[in-house]
Amino acid sequence: MNSALEKQCLLCERNISTETDSREHIIPNSIGGRKKVSGFLCADCNSKSGDNWESELAKQMNPLSLFFRINRERGNAPSQKFKTISGEEWELNVDGSMNLPKPIFKKQQSEIGKKIHISARDMPEARKMLEGVSRKYPQLNKEELLKKAKVKSTYLQEPIEFKLSFGGLDAGRSFVKTALALLSTTDANVSDCDHAIDFLKKEAAEPCFGYYYEKDLVSVRPAGVPIHCIHVNGDPESKLIRGYVEYFGVMRVVMCLSSNYSGRAFSATYAIDPIKGEELKLSVDLDLTFSDIRKAYNYEKWDGKVVQKAMGAVIGPTLDKQHTEERDRVLNEAVRYAFSHCGAKEGEMITEEQHSRLMGLLWEKLEPWVLSQIISKR
Ligand SMILES: [Zn+2]
Repeated sequence: MNSALEKQCLLCERNISTETDSREHIIPNSIGGRKKVSGFLCADCNSKSGDNWESELAKQMNPLSLFFRINRERGNAPSQKFKTISGEEWELNVDGSMNLPKPIFKKQQSEIGKKIHISARDMPEARKMLEGVSRKYPQLNKEELLKKAKVKSTYLQEPIEFKLSFGGLDAGRSFVKTALALLSTTDANVSDCDHAIDFLKKEAAEPCFGYYYEKDLVSVRPAGVPIHCIHVNGDPESKLIRGYVEYFGVMRVVMCLSSNYSGRAFSATYAIDPIKGEELKLSVDLDLTFSDIRKAYNYEKWDGKVVQKAMGAVIGPTLDKQHTEERDRVLNEAVRYAFSHCGAKEGEMITEEQHSRLMGLLWEKLEPWVLSQIISKR
C-alpha cells in the first residue's frame, strides 16, 4: 500500500501518483533546509512554487545565507556584490572570501612618466591585462613585470553596506507553504487549512501571515545560533490552526492557517542549525489568539528594537567565530609558506641566514592581516 497514491496536490488538487510525486523541502534548500516531504505537491507545482515563491525568499535571504556560510545540500549560495560605504565594489563568496567583481586598472601621470597600476583577480587575468598594456606600450617587458607581480591578500578597510529587504507576498507564500509542509507530516489534514490554501491559490485572498516580535515564542533559544524553526499547532477549542516560521533567528512570522478547525489537537516543531545542517530539538509556545495574529498581519506586532537585538544575538558570535577561523588560517598558511621557501630542510638545523629569511617570509604573509586588524581596531 502506498499512502502517497491517495493524496492530492495541495495546489492543483490533482491526485499525486508515484510518477507525479515530488520531494518538497519543508524549509527551502536555498537557505539550508534538509528534510523533505512527499505526497504534498505534484512535481509541476513543486517546480512552479520553487520558481516563484522560493526563489524570491532565497534572494531576500541570500546576504544572510552568505554571512552565516550556511551548509546547503545542493550547490552554494550564490556570490553577491556589495558596496563599501565609499562605493567600492566587492563580491562576497559563501566561504567568506571576497573578491573584486572586476579587475582594477589605474593610470597616473607624473613628472617622470605614466604609472600604471593593475589589480587583477588572478595571475591569468593579470597576464591578459598586461598583454593589452604592452600592445600600447611596446617598451614594457611584460614577462619581467609578471615575474614581479605578487599574489596579495587584501582586507576591507571599511564597512560594507549590508542591504536587506524582506517581505512581499511571494516570500509570504513560501512561509505559509513551509508551515503546511510540516503540517503534512502530522496526522492533521492540510485541507483543513482554509485560510492558508486561499492565500496560496487566490491572488486576491487575504495574506494569512505577519511579522511577530512581541514576545519570544521559542522557549529555550540556543545562544548564538541563527536557527530556522517551524511550528504548527491545531486547537479545536479556539478553532485555530496556527503556524510559526522563523529564519536565521531574526525573521519571525506568525500565521493563522485556519480559524474553523474542529479536528483533534496536534502540534509539531522542526528546527535546524543551518550552519551545521543539523536538526535541533526546540519547543515553540504559540498560543496566540486570532485577534493577536491578525494584528501581526497589520504590522502591529513588529518591533525594530527586538529585530535589532535578535540580529546582534546571532551576528556577534558568528563574527567572533569567523575572526578566529581567519586568524588560524592566516597563521597556518604563513608558517607553511615561510618554512617551504626559506631553504631549511626538515630534520636539519636551521642556519642564521635561513632564520632571517624565514622571519621575513612570515611577515610578508602576515602583514595584510595584521594591518587590517590595526585598522579595524582604530
Ligand atoms: Zn500540483
